[in-house]
Amino acid sequence: MKDRHEGGCLCGRIRFAVRGEPLTLYNCSCRFCQKVTAAAGNAMAPFFKEDFELLSGKPDVYEHRSKGSGGKMWLNACPVCHSTMFMTWENFSKGVGVFCGSLDDPNWFKRTAENSVYIYAEEAPNCTVFPAGYRVYKGHAHSFGKATEEPRVYPVHTMVAGGEPKTD
Ligand SMILES: [Zn+2]
Ligand SMILES: [Zn+2]
Repeated sequence: MKDRHEGGCLCGRIRFAVRGEPLTLYNCSCRFCQKVTAAAGNAMAPFFKEDFELLSGKPDVYEHRSKGSGGKMWLNACPVCHSTMFMTWENFSKGVGVFCGSLDDPNWFKRTAENSVYIYAEEAPNCTVFPAGYRVYKGHAHSFGKATEEPRVYPVHTMVAGGEPKTD
């Protein structure tokens, strides 16, 4: 039996559950993620739809077209407190992307160099930190299932300054 974990919005009206481990953890610094969260980026974990369950509430759904792929994406937010908690994709219709900050316990799964990637480093705002030993991609890690580029792996924790990752 897969472990079950819950999450929800700030006010608690929308509740959801996921089963099992995330497929990957995307630490994304793209401008889309910055706008969606109004923050430096987003930690987003996709699950298969069969491992995702809406428990209560009815999210407001905003449709957005990806500038990169042209595919539609649907952002799910609470109509009352406006937390955006998860998204679905036209181009990955089997999946649901959970915004990790909406999990009740954001630390229930391990974040490791194996299951985590850092993406859109080229759009990362200053003071974003890429941990030593983790894969860092300039853009997306893959496009329609194909690898896009060789990731960088920094030997030491590396902070973005002046728009570029700096190791000193
Ligand atoms: Zn809410
Ligand atoms: Zn992003």
